Amino acid sequence: MEAVTDPSVGDALAARAARVRDAMQQVGVDALLLSLGADLPWLTGYTAMPLERLTMLVLPADGDATLVVPGLEAPRVAEHPGLFSVLPWAETDDPVAIVAGLVGRRVTLGISDRCWATFLLQLQARLPEASWLAASTVTSPIRAVKDAAEIAALRRAGAAADRVAAQLVAGEIPLIGRTEAEVSADIGRRLRAEGHDKVNFAIVGSGPNSASPHHEAGRRVIGAGESVVCDFGGTMAGYCSDITRTVWTGGAGPASQFRDLYAVLQAAQAAAVDGATVGTPCEDVDGIARRIISDGGYGDAFIHRTGHGIGLEEHEDPYLVGGNCTALVPGHAFSIEPGIYLAGEYGARIEDIVVAADAGPDALNAVDHDLAVVDA
Ligand code: ZN
Ligand code: ZN
Ligand code: ZN
Repeated sequence: MEAVTDPSVGDALAARAARVRDAMQQVGVDALLLSLGADLPWLTGYTAMPLERLTMLVLPADGDATLVVPGLEAPRVAEHPGLFSVLPWAETDDPVAIVAGLVGRRVTLGISDRCWATFLLQLQARLPEASWLAASTVTSPIRAVKDAAEIAALRRAGAAADRVAAQLVAGEIPLIGRTEAEVSADIGRRLRAEGHDKVNFAIVGSGPNSASPHHEAGRRVIGAGESVVCDFGGTMAGYCSDITRTVWTGGAGPASQFRDLYAVLQAAQAAAVDGATVGTPCEDVDGIARRIISDGGYGDAFIHRTGHGIGLEEHEDPYLVGGNCTALVPGHAFSIEPGIYLAGEYGARIEDIVVAADAGPDALNAVDHDLAVVDA
C-alpha cells in the first residue's frame, strides 16, 4: 500500500495490532490468519496480490506475528520491526504446511473473510482439530472506528471527490449529447487528475436510468430536460471516496414533481447528516431519512439503506440500516445517501461521507446540495 511512507505509520499499525489482540482475547480467538482483503494492509501496511500463491499473516493472541509471503513478493513488504517478521517461501515449499506449523496447537482460528476457499479447505485438512470463524468478527468493529490518520486520509479523498462534484454541478462536465459511458469515463479521469490512485466506480444514470440506483453507465445519450444521477469514488493513499450528486439538464428546469421529490430528498439527507450524532443507533439515522421521505409521499421509492461505512473498503461496517442497533462512536465513518426512485420516470440521490465526532457530525463533502440545473 503506497500510503506507508510516514514514520508514524509503524506506531499506528502497532496501536491497531494491540486493539486486535485485546479483541481476540475477548472473543476467544487463538490466532488470526489474514490473507486477501483489507485487514492485512490495515495491520501491516502490506496488500496481498490476489494470486494462487498464498500470502498469510499468522497473528497469534499469545505470540509473535509472522507474514508468510511468496519469495518473489517479499521485496514489496515494508518491514515494521517488532510488528511482525517476514517468512518468504520458495517455489517448491508448501505454504499451507508453513502456516499450519505456525498455528501449532491453537484451535480457534479467525480467517480473512475474503481468503480464497482453496486455502481454507487445505488448512482445514491440515488442522482437523481447529474451529473456524470469520476474522471480521474480531477486526470489523475495530476497523469501523477510524484513527486520526485514517480520518485525515478519508478527508483528503473526500476533498478530491468534492472537486470533481463541484465541476459537475457548475456545468463544467459536458452532459447533453454524450453517452453515460463517456461521462463516466470523463468523471474517472477527473478523479485521477484530482489525486485518486484508482477509480472504483462512476455511476451515471440519466433519464429513466436515474431510477436504477446502481445503474451501469451505458450507451444511452443524455438529453436535455433529464435527471442525471452521478455517484462516483476512488481510492487515494489507500482510503476511499464516495459522493453522489443529481443534476437536471436544461435551462427550463425540472418539472414540478421532480422539484418536489428533490426537496423531500434534500431535507431527508440533511436531517440524517445532522442526526448522525455520537450515541445514536445506526438504524435511527436510517429512520430519520426514511420518515421524512415517507411523510413526503415517497416511502415506497426509497429502496435501499441510508448508508454504509467506508475506509480501506468502499463498503464496510457500520451499515446505516434498520436492524443495526450499533450506536455511533467518534471515528465511525459512513455515507448518508438516501434516494428516491420512480421506475420508468426518474430518480435522485444525494450522498456525503460523514465522520461521527464528539463535536457533532463531521461531513467530509461540502459541494452544494441544492438541485443544480446545468446547461452543459
Ligand atoms: Zn451504492
Ligand atoms: Zn456512492
Ligand atoms: Zn455510497
